Amino acid sequence: MFQTGLFAEIKSRLLMREVVERYGFEVNRAGYILCPFHSEKTPSLKVYESGFNCFGCGVSGDAVRFIALLHNIGDYEAAKQLDGDFGLGLSAVDYVSRTTNIVKIKYARDVVTSFETWIDGAYRAITDLNRATPPRPPVVTGLQAAKFLALQSMADFLFNELFSARTKAQQLQFYKNYHKTIEKINEVLYEHNTN
Ligand SMILES: [Zn+2]
Repeated sequence: MFQTGLFAEIKSRLLMREVVERYGFEVNRAGYILCPFHSEKTPSLKVYESGFNCFGCGVSGDAVRFIALLHNIGDYEAAKQLDGDFGLGLSAVDYVSRTTNIVKIKYARDVVTSFETWIDGAYRAITDLNRATPPRPPVVTGLQAAKFLALQSMADFLFNELFSARTKAQQLQFYKNYHKTIEKINEVLYEHNTN
């Protein structure tokens, strides 16, 4: 998830606007903020959906670049800061935020709630898969039946993995390792229940 993956993930999850607002900039109706990179009285830094451009001093880039320039840190550090400040949970690295406010706390709480919901859902999916009677041709194709059986043979293993993941960090690791598998399980269960 790190390096290029982290940058792409941040871009896809954060709007440039919410990033600048998070750090105290006020976006005017035309979509401009006062540029922090040169001295000015009239906003000339345009905020786009996933980037910015200052028409005064010519600086441009994405959210990561903005934070890197703002704090005079590298892109990698900036990405980690965004990850931490928005509670994205992309990096398992210990992180101490440079800024704390109520927005961050609320956001983090929402992320925790949705993660717990995901864990609950994963339990349910694995249990349902374990209990389900495998579908057979001609109700489903041989390939679909094989896919179902292959996943079902993993149910015990997955259940144990999830059951033994007690700390948040372990659960996060489970998510990282198996969220695609859980997605597939939900897909086959959906097909199974609609057949
Ligand atoms: Zn500027």
